[in-house]
Amino acid sequence: MINIDGGCHCGKVKYDALVDPAHVRICHCVDCQSLTGSAYRVTVRAAKDDLRIWAGEPKVYTRYGDNGRKRLQYFCGDCGSPLFTTGEGEDAAIWGIRWGSIAQRRALTPSSQIWHRSAAQWADNIRDLPAREMD
Ligand SMILES: [Zn+2]
Ligand SMILES: [Zn+2]
Repeated sequence: MINIDGGCHCGKVKYDALVDPAHVRICHCVDCQSLTGSAYRVTVRAAKDDLRIWAGEPKVYTRYGDNGRKRLQYFCGDCGSPLFTTGEGEDAAIWGIRWGSIAQRRALTPSSQIWHRSAAQWADNIRDLPAREMD
Protein backbone atom coordinates (compact mmCIF):
# COMPACT_ATOMS: atom_id res chain seq x y z
CA MET A 1 0.00 0.00 0.00
CA ILE A 2 1.22 3.52 -0.71
CA ASN A 3 0.08 6.93 0.43
CA ILE A 4 -0.87 9.26 -2.39
CA ASP A 5 -2.25 12.74 -2.72
CA GLY A 6 -3.78 14.60 -5.57
CA GLY A 7 -6.39 16.98 -6.82
CA CYS A 8 -7.96 18.61 -9.81
CA HIS A 9 -6.13 20.76 -12.35
CA CYS A 10 -7.22 24.13 -10.89
CA GLY A 11 -6.36 23.08 -7.32
CA LYS A 12 -9.80 23.62 -5.78
CA VAL A 13 -10.30 19.96 -4.85
CA LYS A 14 -7.53 18.15 -2.99
CA TYR A 15 -7.40 14.73 -1.40
CA ASP A 16 -5.12 12.10 -0.01
CA ALA A 17 -5.54 8.34 0.04
CA LEU A 18 -4.00 4.97 0.72
CA VAL A 19 -3.98 2.75 -2.38
CA ASP A 20 -2.76 -0.67 -3.40
CA PRO A 21 -0.46 -0.29 -6.44
CA ALA A 22 -1.63 -3.75 -7.60
CA HIS A 23 -5.12 -2.38 -8.26
CA VAL A 24 -4.64 -0.04 -11.20
CA ARG A 25 -6.89 -0.72 -14.15
CA ILE A 26 -7.53 0.58 -17.66
CA CYS A 27 -11.12 0.83 -18.83
CA HIS A 28 -11.89 1.03 -22.55
CA CYS A 29 -15.68 1.29 -22.18
CA VAL A 30 -17.56 3.78 -24.32
CA ASP A 31 -18.71 5.73 -21.24
CA CYS A 32 -15.12 6.26 -20.11
CA GLN A 33 -14.21 7.40 -23.61
CA SER A 34 -17.12 9.85 -23.61
CA LEU A 35 -16.59 11.12 -20.06
CA THR A 36 -12.85 11.66 -20.42
CA GLY A 37 -12.71 12.75 -24.05
CA SER A 38 -9.85 10.30 -24.39
CA ALA A 39 -9.27 6.75 -25.63
CA TYR A 40 -9.40 5.06 -22.22
CA ARG A 41 -9.43 5.76 -18.53
CA VAL A 42 -7.01 4.64 -15.82
CA THR A 43 -8.36 4.22 -12.29
CA VAL A 44 -6.78 3.25 -8.97
CA ARG A 45 -8.88 1.47 -6.37
CA ALA A 46 -9.22 2.70 -2.79
CA ALA A 47 -11.36 1.72 0.18
CA LYS A 48 -13.84 4.46 1.10
CA ASP A 49 -12.26 4.91 4.53
CA ASP A 50 -8.81 5.35 2.96
CA LEU A 51 -9.80 8.37 0.86
CA ARG A 52 -10.00 11.81 2.43
CA ILE A 53 -11.11 14.87 0.46
CA TRP A 54 -9.66 17.77 2.42
CA ALA A 55 -10.23 20.76 0.16
CA GLY A 56 -13.09 21.68 -2.11
CA GLU A 57 -16.20 19.74 -2.90
CA PRO A 58 -16.36 17.84 -6.17
CA LYS A 59 -19.52 17.80 -8.25
CA VAL A 60 -21.13 14.52 -9.10
CA TYR A 61 -22.63 13.22 -12.31
CA THR A 62 -24.59 9.98 -12.17
CA ARG A 63 -24.52 7.47 -14.96
CA TYR A 64 -25.99 3.98 -15.02
CA GLY A 65 -23.76 0.96 -15.56
CA ASP A 66 -24.67 -1.98 -17.77
CA ASN A 67 -25.95 -3.73 -14.65
CA GLY A 68 -28.44 -0.88 -14.08
CA ARG A 69 -26.63 0.31 -10.97
CA LYS A 70 -25.78 3.94 -10.41
CA ARG A 71 -22.20 5.00 -10.92
CA LEU A 72 -21.32 8.34 -9.34
CA GLN A 73 -18.73 10.30 -11.31
CA TYR A 74 -17.00 12.98 -9.25
CA PHE A 75 -15.28 15.88 -10.95
CA CYS A 76 -14.24 19.47 -10.27
CA GLY A 77 -17.07 21.84 -11.12
CA ASP A 78 -14.60 24.62 -11.92
CA CYS A 79 -11.98 22.95 -14.12
CA GLY A 80 -13.80 19.74 -15.08
CA SER A 81 -11.04 17.31 -14.05
CA PRO A 82 -12.39 13.80 -13.42
CA LEU A 83 -11.50 12.76 -9.85
CA PHE A 84 -13.34 9.75 -8.42
CA THR A 85 -16.02 7.17 -9.00
CA THR A 86 -18.07 5.07 -6.62
CA GLY A 87 -21.48 3.45 -6.40
CA GLU A 88 -24.37 3.24 -4.00
CA GLY A 89 -25.13 0.76 -1.23
CA GLU A 90 -22.50 -1.96 -0.97
CA ASP A 91 -20.79 -0.50 -4.07
CA ALA A 92 -19.99 2.66 -2.04
CA ALA A 93 -17.32 0.80 -0.05
CA ILE A 94 -14.90 1.02 -2.98
CA TRP A 95 -13.85 4.22 -4.68
CA GLY A 96 -11.91 4.62 -7.87
CA ILE A 97 -9.42 7.45 -8.10
CA ARG A 98 -8.64 8.83 -11.55
CA TRP A 99 -5.01 8.18 -12.32
CA GLY A 100 -4.31 11.60 -13.85
CA SER A 101 -5.36 13.39 -10.65
CA ILE A 102 -2.75 11.59 -8.52
CA ALA A 103 0.55 13.35 -7.80
CA GLN A 104 2.42 10.02 -7.52
CA ARG A 105 0.83 8.54 -10.68
CA ARG A 106 4.15 7.56 -12.20
CA ALA A 107 4.43 4.94 -9.45
CA LEU A 108 1.07 3.42 -10.41
CA THR A 109 1.16 1.09 -13.42
CA PRO A 110 -1.97 -0.63 -14.73
CA SER A 111 -2.11 -4.40 -14.31
CA SER A 112 -5.29 -5.15 -16.25
CA GLN A 113 -7.73 -3.82 -18.84
CA ILE A 114 -11.51 -4.10 -19.04
CA TRP A 115 -14.02 -3.50 -21.85
CA HIS A 116 -11.27 -4.15 -24.36
CA ARG A 117 -13.90 -5.00 -26.98
CA SER A 118 -14.62 -1.26 -27.34
CA ALA A 119 -10.96 -0.23 -27.25
CA ALA A 120 -9.78 2.17 -29.95
CA GLN A 121 -8.27 -0.04 -32.64
CA TRP A 122 -4.94 1.79 -32.24
CA ALA A 123 -4.88 1.76 -28.42
CA ASP A 124 -2.59 -1.27 -28.25
CA ASN A 125 -0.14 0.18 -30.75
CA ILE A 126 0.93 3.68 -29.68
CA ARG A 127 4.41 2.34 -29.01
CA ASP A 128 4.83 2.21 -32.81
CA LEU A 129 4.09 5.92 -33.33
CA PRO A 130 6.87 8.44 -33.88
CA ALA A 131 7.45 10.13 -30.51
CA ARG A 132 9.07 13.36 -29.34
CA GLU A 133 10.04 14.00 -25.72
CA MET A 134 8.19 17.32 -25.77
CA ASP A 135 5.65 19.14 -27.91
ZN1 LIG B 1 -10.57 22.13 -10.38
ZN1 LIG C 1 -15.20 2.50 -18.32
